[in-house]
Amino acid sequence: MNALAVDLGGSHATCAWVEDQAVIGAVTIPTEGSKGLASILPLLAEALRTLLGKHGTSPSGCAGLAFSFCGLVDHGRGKVVSTNAKYDDAPSLDLRSWCEDSLGVSFQIENDARMALLGESYAGVARGFEDVVMVTLGTGIGAAAMIQGGLLRGKHAQAGCLGGHLPVLFNGRRCTCGAIGCAEAEASAWSLPEVCRNTRGFASSALATENSISFKRLFHHADAGDAVAVAVRERCLAVWGALTVSLIHAYDPEVIVFGGGVMKRASTILPFLQEYVNRYAWTPWGKVQLRAAQLGNDAALLGAIPLLRSA
Ligand SMILES: [Zn+2]
Repeated sequence: MNALAVDLGGSHATCAWVEDQAVIGAVTIPTEGSKGLASILPLLAEALRTLLGKHGTSPSGCAGLAFSFCGLVDHGRGKVVSTNAKYDDAPSLDLRSWCEDSLGVSFQIENDARMALLGESYAGVARGFEDVVMVTLGTGIGAAAMIQGGLLRGKHAQAGCLGGHLPVLFNGRRCTCGAIGCAEAEASAWSLPEVCRNTRGFASSALATENSISFKRLFHHADAGDAVAVAVRERCLAVWGALTVSLIHAYDPEVIVFGGGVMKRASTILPFLQEYVNRYAWTPWGKVQLRAAQLGNDAALLGAIPLLRSA
């Protein structure tokens, strides 16, 4: 099967032609500073038309466009339901008509973590499993769940997607979603600088000399023995541990796939989390396997094939 795919993230959009388990001809368009999704659609259409012209003449044609979006998506209605400070005009747009009018192919849309889960279970590290949870540790924390081979979507299209907004601290930080103590308010790239600044001893920590505090710099200073960096690293690992146990108790997976930029330090994160869930998750049938994502940025693009196949 061949398809067009778009993966729209916070700072860029990737347009690609996908043939079975291979991403071919990907084009990345920066979107930082754009005035919403409507202003980007002409650029996406142009890039997609070029890909379609180049590859779409094969006998098997094009099965459609699969659009991966960083927000809550109602797949059945083909609509973005809700955003969180990114492309806030998206719920008002008729993307299906835009796709059919500008490209002449059918349209499917899904949340980006669900797309990454589909990709990893189709062509990546979760191949062969029917009960899978995907977690992306990045600017925020994305999540998705597959139960007995089917993506979990729910009545309001948000089931499984709000893993980053499962509270881990009842008296924690206020999250961008409005809740208190969400996992991503306590341990994600957007909340990390604030978490560091509020840690005792910050002023004399090497972290205080950083212009912007990223997980890369946090792990760097923790490796060097900086006490505040070590304390924050351990706190973040514990937050992700508690979140992982919650996800296991909620969705009963066999395997959990961890992706996202923070997983560049998988060698630190995964052994900690595996030991944590072996100890604290209630799984009398055995142990849940925790694995690092294999497909990176291609996961959400490759998810196009199973998404369109199931349509
Ligand atoms: Zn939240």
